[in-house]
Amino acid sequence: MTQTTVLRGARPYGESAADIVIADGIISGIVAVGSATGDDVLDVTGLVALPGLVDLHTHLREPGREDAETVDTGSQAAALGGYTAVFAMANTLPVADTAGVVEQVWRLGQESGLVDVHPVGAVTVGLGGTQLAELGAMAGSAAQVRVFSDDGKCVSDAVLMRRALEYVKALDGVIAQHAQEPRLTENAQMNEGPLSGVLGLTGWPAVAEESIIARDVLLAHHVGSRLHVCHVSTAGSVDIIRWAKARGINVTAEVTPHHLLLTEELVRSYDPVYKVNPPLRSAADVEALWAGLADGTIDIVATDHAPHALEDKDCEWGAASFGMLGLQTALSVVIETMVRTGRLDWRGVADRMSVAPARIGRATAHGHDIEVGAPASLALVDTEARWIVEPDLLASKSRNSPYAGMELPGRVEHVVKAGRFTVRNGSVCR
Ligand SMILES: [Zn+2]
Repeated sequence: MTQTTVLRGARPYGESAADIVIADGIISGIVAVGSATGDDVLDVTGLVALPGLVDLHTHLREPGREDAETVDTGSQAAALGGYTAVFAMANTLPVADTAGVVEQVWRLGQESGLVDVHPVGAVTVGLGGTQLAELGAMAGSAAQVRVFSDDGKCVSDAVLMRRALEYVKALDGVIAQHAQEPRLTENAQMNEGPLSGVLGLTGWPAVAEESIIARDVLLAHHVGSRLHVCHVSTAGSVDIIRWAKARGINVTAEVTPHHLLLTEELVRSYDPVYKVNPPLRSAADVEALWAGLADGTIDIVATDHAPHALEDKDCEWGAASFGMLGLQTALSVVIETMVRTGRLDWRGVADRMSVAPARIGRATAHGHDIEVGAPASLALVDTEARWIVEPDLLASKSRNSPYAGMELPGRVEHVVKAGRFTVRNGSVCR
């Protein structure tokens, strides 16, 4: 017998309430409130239903740094944040640059079962930047890799970047570039500007990001391939991507939640929780990122969830690692910066956090509109609730949240992945 689940009184995209009926992993009906019956009827009156979120940029740290995060703890954080799929970056130990490593990560994700873990394959062997990795073998593996990135490092060699872009065309793949000109950012610690001078920290200039993006959109156009730009952080980058899209260049881009909410002013504290790469920028940059995400120049929000063990963050600024937690707070930050301000409606949020990232990463089981016949992967959100971020209560193994103590809107109450609850009443459900 087919088990039927009813989500009673859900509001798809914040619009009119309905009963969402789920059977065999599929949305089998969207009917008038109170009219559906089923084996498991959950009252979700008032909750906004979104397609399960998809994160194109997550660091899960396994294999190699299981003290900071594992595929399972990262998957818990993702599910609690409303995600049903994440893309795990390749900068693990060993690097995910072979079919063997990406299959290991993929299998760990299957075993955890809370989100679909799509491994990202490295572009170059060992992230060394000199020799192309076995992109075809990773694409043909059980992990079916479609996104390739040396994230954490930039593919700075123009010839190698050109070859990588050419290679992935045949794989229906995409190169996700961490745009950082290495010579312009040697020992860089924070955004370059008046404040970096005041604080005596080496600057990370906007031009180091913008010059790589400009080069890469031209390369992608020249070879007719697909480019994705990771964590866009400057106003100039938004302008270059807007120009490239207007010319028909096949480029997509992401912004992180922290670059939408936080500015370099926080670095005045010298608290390494605010140390991130690319760095927090100026208020004017943040405004340009809001506009770019609202008008679609920036296609998606991706977390760049970067857990770090205590000893890598609880030290002086210069010695601390770059990165911040993001999976459990991303939707709340987007609500705060984009929805409450009227820049995006719920359909816009669904597009930027589910539909578009699934399309870019070719995660075909995800990012479907909420309609009859679609896979039943949904996040149900209490958009009126407010909560205070307490890092000790987050599911991640690490504690480096820049939002500690901050009150944010929006709480994920339930998550369904392929018809099965992964989060119920705010708790992980296996
Ligand atoms: Zn990066």
